[in-house]
Amino acid sequence: MDLGYTYSQAVAEASRCLLCHEPPCSAGCPANTNPGKFIRQLRMRNLKGAIATMYCNNILAASCGVLCPTCTLCASGCTAQGLDRPIDIGGLQRFLAEHSWEIGFRPIQAAAPNGQKVAIVGSGPAGLMCAAELAQRGFSVTLFERLEKPGGVLRHLLPEHRLSAVFFDREVKMLADLGVEFKCNQTIDGRAGLDELLAQGYGAVYLATGAWEAVRLDLPGADAGGIQGAMGFLARSKREPQVVKAEVKDKQVAVIGGGDTAMDVAVTAQRFGARDVYVLYRRSYAQMPGNPEEKLEVMQEGIHFVMLTQPLGYTSENGRVNGVKVLRTRLGDPDFGGRRRPEAIPGTEHVLPADVVVEAVGLKPGKGLKGFDGLKVDASGRVVVSEAGETDIANVFAGGDAVRGAALISHAIGDGARAGRAIADALLGGE
Ligand SMILES: Cc1cc2nc3c(=O)[nH]c(=O)nc-3n(C[C@H](O)[C@H](O)[C@H](O)COP(=O)(O)OP(=O)(O)OC[C@H]3O[C@@H](n4cnc5c(N)ncnc54)[C@H](O)[C@@H]3O)c2cc1C
Repeated sequence: MDLGYTYSQAVAEASRCLLCHEPPCSAGCPANTNPGKFIRQLRMRNLKGAIATMYCNNILAASCGVLCPTCTLCASGCTAQGLDRPIDIGGLQRFLAEHSWEIGFRPIQAAAPNGQKVAIVGSGPAGLMCAAELAQRGFSVTLFERLEKPGGVLRHLLPEHRLSAVFFDREVKMLADLGVEFKCNQTIDGRAGLDELLAQGYGAVYLATGAWEAVRLDLPGADAGGIQGAMGFLARSKREPQVVKAEVKDKQVAVIGGGDTAMDVAVTAQRFGARDVYVLYRRSYAQMPGNPEEKLEVMQEGIHFVMLTQPLGYTSENGRVNGVKVLRTRLGDPDFGGRRRPEAIPGTEHVLPADVVVEAVGLKPGKGLKGFDGLKVDASGRVVVSEAGETDIANVFAGGDAVRGAALISHAIGDGARAGRAIADALLGGE
């Protein structure tokens, strides 16, 4: 991560704000971080007020400042872009968070205990935010996490160049300071695990298990060695970087897909020493779903974007992949989602040599929810919930990627906060 703003730079950036009466930036934040208010406070040099505004609705405000695609969220409606460029809302969030750590300011506090306890399953952004919301209302909160440390995707999948572990740890520490208890290396195993939590006296359970199952293409030849899903590649790159470095060093790596996950895989492979990294995508650059700013940065890393290219299968030698069979496409009419549909161009089949292939074509809740009998899920495996996040099992709520499928951190934060309030209302009877 690069260096953030200094104090005077941050105030100067905030001073470009046009102080909209009904700020479109605040309306554009799914986590309700309220940039319209904290930028105004920062501009007036009310730093503690700005930090408190930012953190009271978003416990991961600093991580969001670094990772959110602000150009499609809060900054997309910024009126300053009519004059020059939108306010750098993410950069200001990061500055305020770093300033609060520097001066030891704790913007949020736990309320006096109300005697009730809540269990949260999964410690990604949705689980962490729900925990913060409940602790501030006096609940005793225990977070159960199947992995060795809390943080979900942000800790276990995002490459270090996107979010430093030291930086993220400081935000997670705020939850420990609120009295939230973390029980890591503890999987809540299906319906029996859920019922056990309720039997142990937890008044409610929040399921925030994320979307960790990689969608696979199931192409001919996919059983050859060297072909893998994005989640496995990214998780191993964090857990055992030396092993993955040895696998990709001086190799030709093909990444199939065009979203954020594909970009993270491509840059990781490049920085781990791959000779060439190709991103294969069947539509064109403009249709790629990833964050527009990130796509540009990835291109600047020297990654080759091979657009309008559809994978058909894999070639291999001695059981290991040595190429991706592909075909050129052209864009036809829009599909039901509004994006122009890729159409095959006959006779353009060819093989792109590749020693390692990573499929990054989508994620679904799948594995995290196996065995939760009685939980209503839709055809894509996402938990079905009410507006407040209630599932059809009494006192069990859900949110984040487990409900939405692969989405954004700010959506998960918004869900966690909403569910925290709904759980508090349900258990305290609106007190
Ligand atoms: C590679 C990648 C890059 C991304 N980049 C961005 C980005 O730049 N900007 C952005 O806004 N969004 C990004 N996202 C999306 C964002 O990370 C997710 O939307 C967000 O993390 C979802 O939060 P969550 O709390 O729902 O789940 P997660 O973060 O997935 O956390 C779920 C947690 O639940 C745990 N768990 C699962 N089952 C159990 C169980 N039975 N018992 C106990 N624990 C369990 C898991 O181990 C995990 O820690 C990215 C996603 C990926 C995969």
